[in-house]
Amino acid sequence: MVLIRKVGLQMGKILRKCVACGRYTMIHLECPECGGKTVNPHPAKFSLTDKYGKYRRQLKKMEKK
Ligand SMILES: [Zn+2]
Repeated sequence: MVLIRKVGLQMGKILRKCVACGRYTMIHLECPECGGKTVNPHPAKFSLTDKYGKYRRQLKKMEKK
């Protein structure tokens, strides 16, 4: 778990989700709202493909319009 914590901090902005209340947060290992534990909602495929993430999100926005 120490390794995961270090990687998370090195990545800077990383989306995490509180397992207790479901709130999304950045970086925080503990929920700023309820103090619950946070987890990465997208574990495996997040790191290597993230450079395409913003394009994927742009496409999703365009599809919704
Ligand atoms: Zn919470």
